[in-house]
Amino acid sequence: MSTIEQNLQQVTERISSTARQCGRDPQEITLLAVSKTKPVTVIEEAIRAGQTAFGENYVQEGIEKISYFQQKAVTTPLSWHFIGPLQSNKSRLVAEHFDWLHTLDRRQLAQRLNNQRPQALAPLNVLIQINISGEDSKSGILPAGLAELAAQVAELPRLRLRGLMAIPAPQADYQRQLAVFQKMAAIFGDLRRRHPGVDTLSLGMTDDMPAAIVAGSTLVRIGTAIFGARDYQAPTA
Ligand SMILES: *Cc1c(COP(=O)(O)O)cnc(C)c1O
Repeated sequence: MSTIEQNLQQVTERISSTARQCGRDPQEITLLAVSKTKPVTVIEEAIRAGQTAFGENYVQEGIEKISYFQQKAVTTPLSWHFIGPLQSNKSRLVAEHFDWLHTLDRRQLAQRLNNQRPQALAPLNVLIQINISGEDSKSGILPAGLAELAAQVAELPRLRLRGLMAIPAPQADYQRQLAVFQKMAAIFGDLRRRHPGVDTLSLGMTDDMPAAIVAGSTLVRIGTAIFGARDYQAPTA
């Protein structure tokens, strides 16, 4: 068994055991493998181990990988999630190549993506990013702006509003992680009542996954625990 296969198995087991401990069905939680900076050979190993959903942070790197797997015509359908900050001048590349965007944070970007999403593709699945730690430096909108942006996105036919995403400020302490994720879960509950199609709460990375699952995450974004530490100096495709 390859290291990546072993890592995927361990992460999957951790998701299942955490879910069961808090009375959730492990099937409700999608594992997104965050493959940023990792070469296609490593992604291929993950695909062989059964992984199908991948997250990328850099537009150019992401579309190179997507194109590679399209040309290879892998038989398993893959889904590609853009999870990095998105500049407006790169929106077309995301609209044309990705299946999901986790970092929607403004109306103008939503409108551009809606206009740019090719008719041949299903609507782009979008998550609105919430700045839950309230720091100036973090991207995402403040919770107070959510209702308005969500209503605007819901009107756009080439986007499909699926839910929310957040990257809280790192906290080593489990109880603090949980408290922030629970705030997100409450906001998610409100959004769901207004928009019944909403079903995805993207919360949790390698260092805070259990707290995210206990709070109600439906999608965890895991890089390091699957692929090992990242080397930002190395070539990325
Ligand atoms: C890199 C990244 C991850 C994965 O982080 P790990 O700590 O390696 O699991 C998850 N979400 C986002 C938005 C990221 O940029």
